[in-house]
Amino acid sequence: MHCPFCGANDTRVTDSRLVADGDQVRRRRQCASCQERFTTYETAELIMPRVVKSDGSRETFEERKLRAGMLRALEKRPVSAEAIEASVERIRQSLRAQGEREVNARDIGEAVMKALSGLDQVAYIRFASVYRKFQDLDEFRAEIDRLAQTPKGEKS
Ligand SMILES: [Zn+2]
Repeated sequence: MHCPFCGANDTRVTDSRLVADGDQVRRRRQCASCQERFTTYETAELIMPRVVKSDGSRETFEERKLRAGMLRALEKRPVSAEAIEASVERIRQSLRAQGEREVNARDIGEAVMKALSGLDQVAYIRFASVYRKFQDLDEFRAEIDRLAQTPKGEKS
């Protein structure tokens, strides 16, 4: 592993721990040359299903995009990076667990909405309003009312 600061290839692992329910290894490394520290995450690479978009085109599943969509909705919200990362990981696992070669982009969107509703209601509304393209204001209001009635702490 090359040091991202000076490019030297002699780096030492100073700490190693399991994260994301044991599916990821987080390593603290230190460069033997410049002494800078950095962190790496290691995950087993497994085949992810291809994503079928609403226009029928296919694309490779990209965790980066999934995370970016969630981060956009969660901007300036009081949700920890760990909680977000755990959600991304859960969605990834559920997609993989389906064992299908292809998965609808719609299903991923629904999974994101479900995850966000458990993390932060504002982020959920933000994402849902874009994703579901609420037909009109009444529909949007109905959704907010529905949320207001959901008991706190309930995880669906
Ligand atoms: Zn270095």
